[in-house]
Amino acid sequence: MANNEDLFKSIISHAKEYGYIFPSSEIYDGLSAVYDYGQYGVELKNNIKQYWWKAMVQYHENIVGIDSAIFMHPTIWKASGHVDAFNDPLIDNKDSKKRYRADVLIEDHIQKIEDKINKEVEKAKKRFENFDEALFRQTNPRVVENQKKIDEITAKYAELMQNNDLVGLKQLILDLEIACPISGTRNWTDVRQFNLMFSTQMGSVADGADTIYLRPETAQGIFVNFLNVQKTGRMKLPFGIAQIGKAFRNEIVARQFIFRMREFEQMEMQFFVRPGEELKWFEYWKAERIKWHQSLGIPAENYRFHDHEKLAHYANAATDIEFKFPFGFKELEGIHSRTNYDLSRHEEFSGKKLRYFDPETNESYVPYVVETSIGVDRMFLAVFSHAYHEEKMEDGSVRVVLRLPAMLAPVKAAVLPLVKKDGMPEKAREIMDILKREYLCQYDEKDAIGRRYRRQDAIGTPFCITVDNQTLEDNTVTIRERDTMQQYRVNVDELLNTLRGKLAGM
Ligand code: ATP
Repeated sequence: MANNEDLFKSIISHAKEYGYIFPSSEIYDGLSAVYDYGQYGVELKNNIKQYWWKAMVQYHENIVGIDSAIFMHPTIWKASGHVDAFNDPLIDNKDSKKRYRADVLIEDHIQKIEDKINKEVEKAKKRFENFDEALFRQTNPRVVENQKKIDEITAKYAELMQNNDLVGLKQLILDLEIACPISGTRNWTDVRQFNLMFSTQMGSVADGADTIYLRPETAQGIFVNFLNVQKTGRMKLPFGIAQIGKAFRNEIVARQFIFRMREFEQMEMQFFVRPGEELKWFEYWKAERIKWHQSLGIPAENYRFHDHEKLAHYANAATDIEFKFPFGFKELEGIHSRTNYDLSRHEEFSGKKLRYFDPETNESYVPYVVETSIGVDRMFLAVFSHAYHEEKMEDGSVRVVLRLPAMLAPVKAAVLPLVKKDGMPEKAREIMDILKREYLCQYDEKDAIGRRYRRQDAIGTPFCITVDNQTLEDNTVTIRERDTMQQYRVNVDELLNTLRGKLAGM
């Protein structure tokens, strides 16, 4: 594979070719940044959701789930701050007429300088034995100079974002001589704020009062149901409410496939705690969530925490779990200590008390909240891109294999009669009928066995079960494992138990 860009392109075309993800409305040339999940995609997505739900709701006795509506009272988005402050700064290039996020242009510029440094480090690594990277970074004049540039730009950029200084953002883009990648010119418009919420009309009369929003996050559905759940579930602090559901954001620049979509799905959990205990729980959820990611068997070096230096005004701690996507480390999940901001705002805007009576202290108060928030689609992309491998075989051919964690794989096993005669299809069907009650399995009798194995490798099926002549004599089948391609025989009576053992954890 030539480079990461090529790898990413291969991953996207593989997702389409093998029924994982299709561009939405493809026969009408697609709809920008909207995607459909195909027959295997929906299975992988459901398995990811189930894996999360089990870890959060089933394994934590003090977390329950809800499913709130996408449409909500419009005042909710006033209270949450989304109407006034859920904006991205946008800028247009007058020559190409292309629209960009001003912050992303600056971040990309910083990334380019960082890439230069990394190249320099890699080059030196190859040249010197016993290479001391830290020392090199501190002493190499080019690296030092570039690092200084990054620090200066970052500080300036953070200050401008913090102060919502749109004129300053434009000036920074001009000062850094950032050009439009399409036209190559620096002929920019002013920077303007753009609200990311989609709005629509409810009812038949199209006046302003009926404007409602498609939710840009699922969290607010949890906040406004806080008391309903607490009272009906007789929940005691600390406790959590989890939800999986669609969210919508009119992203200015939607790109990188399903990384940034306009319609996507979130898995969020709000954990309600006593005031003063939130930072302890923030640390707890950081540890829990990274454990969850690593339980999938993806090596730890693919994840890192990125603590927010500048916090939103309502947060007193925030971190992202970043994943090493083919295009670099990017946010996969956010963990935020949101204080009592949201519940207090809903108290204020609704005029209803959203308080918890603490039987231990005999006090009523608005609980503090620690939130974990992860995109299903981003998680899908993380798992899928990490699983994709092109392997050179001894005979010179290339095996494309999706090394998906077995518990997330859409099809758990394929049942394959070696040939389409001598009673093998009938025996294979019998086995299929047993296995399919427990797992999603596939029966396939078409083409040579090698090609069928490759087809299953390409969709990520962890086990192929082959019925051959010997099966008819001693009731054993071969199991071929996807990753190692090792084969061994198992008695048909033991088959289901063997698979259960291998797929444990679901
Ligand atoms: P980003 O900085 O990438 O725009 P964010 O900080 O706005 O993300 P949050 O509001 O914290 O994201 O949303 C929580 C999670 O929802 C993110 O970590 C991500 O996994 C997912 N998410 C957010 N926006 C999108 C999107 N447009 N498409 C897909 N997933 C998204």
